[in-house]
Amino acid sequence: MTTADPTAEPEPESAVETARRQLERAAAHLDVDDGIVERLRHPTSVYRVTIPVERDDGSTEMFTGYRAHHDSVRGPYKGGLRYHPDVSEEESIGLSMWMTWKCAVMNLPFGGAKGGIVVDPKELSSDEKERLTRRFAEELRPIIGPMKDIPAPDMGTDPATMAWFMDAYSMQEGETTPGVVTGKPPVVGGSYGREEAPGRSVGIITREAVDYYGWDLEDLTVAVQGFGSVGANAARYLDDRGASVVAVSDVDGAIYDPDGLDTNDVEDHDETPGMVSGYDAPETMSNEELLELDVDVLIPAAIGNVLTAENAANVQADMIVEGANGPTTSTAGQIFEERDIPVIPDILANAGGVTVSYFEWLQDINRRAWSLERVNQELEEEMLEAWRAVREEYDSRDVTWRDATYIVALSRIAEAHEARGLWP
Ligand code: NAD
Repeated sequence: MTTADPTAEPEPESAVETARRQLERAAAHLDVDDGIVERLRHPTSVYRVTIPVERDDGSTEMFTGYRAHHDSVRGPYKGGLRYHPDVSEEESIGLSMWMTWKCAVMNLPFGGAKGGIVVDPKELSSDEKERLTRRFAEELRPIIGPMKDIPAPDMGTDPATMAWFMDAYSMQEGETTPGVVTGKPPVVGGSYGREEAPGRSVGIITREAVDYYGWDLEDLTVAVQGFGSVGANAARYLDDRGASVVAVSDVDGAIYDPDGLDTNDVEDHDETPGMVSGYDAPETMSNEELLELDVDVLIPAAIGNVLTAENAANVQADMIVEGANGPTTSTAGQIFEERDIPVIPDILANAGGVTVSYFEWLQDINRRAWSLERVNQELEEEMLEAWRAVREEYDSRDVTWRDATYIVALSRIAEAHEARGLWP
């Protein structure tokens, strides 16, 4: 029988607590200087800005924005900008730490950052969102730049937001600077394949993990929670290669076909909102039921903290590949470890997004666009390289996939800190 640790943090846990806990777990396996671990428990700096915005009715409203810089020992800070009512200093710090590990596991020359504005973007008109974004770019201008800190889209922001952000920065700097943000539309220096990249990398890593366990993709059944950008691209990648995707969901519920859904026929949320749960499938079910389906691979690709102490014992999948950021709480992770269910972590599986952001930054700096074929080919190579590094740690130590991934990341970061010196 599996039991939750009564001393564990109450769920859902904060991103910063999760990030610190994972750092400590990885550090316990490595001979890393205590000073470096202590340094990595904290962000380098956190910026808090206030942003006046003229609403469409002529009134002025103040908004609060954050940008957390965690660590830049391996290169400029990199991470998303989120527009959401729950954005906070604490959340930005935790998510910036995850970005440090994610960039390191992919061996990208970047450190970790995250930020955003406390706002519900659905309550803003497009003009108001543009004014908010431009003023935010101006407030952050002293601390961002292609060699300092390169934001990207996240929840509530999109390629259009990044285009405004880049334009505002460029106007003030007096030169067009596409490399200041990634996730832009291709016409202003964005990369082909950026949108599909996180889902595609989830597909590639699932393919490799399945192969590692000697399973056949053609015999695989898969359930995907969240048929959005990450979930739909991952599901279609696996479906196109012979796997049977039996269930997918959106916020309103799940659809199920034991013979496998045609994932190219089901429209995702961006294509037509509400279409997933409205699709004509043999069965419908709740999101909770989807998570407990008896499938080979479960891919939670919607939101964080969906696999918890409450449902982890009921999960019947033989493997979990994390498409969303932080879908598994620490307690659930412990239960899966006891139950011998491999969990391939988010910072590896969905890292295709930041990897193609890195390609975009390279293209911007070199003023030379890559073809979609080249992007996908290089993404495949980077993902395989990261997978091999993690697999080596997994094979040589008695650890979980998550620990192996953090060990790869931390050892690279610690080595760089040792070489440069902490300057305490
Ligand atoms: P998205 O908005 O395109 O899709 C999210 C999907 O999840 C939608 O189908 C939505 O209906 C569904 N959903 C929302 N709330 C839900 C709930 N409470 N229960 C079940 N389903 C729900 O978002 P996305 O870009 O695909 O991101 C999904 C996850 O992946 C997030 O955790 C995000 O942080 C992470 N992620 C995204 C990227 C990226 O570049 N898009 C990169 C790395 C990680």
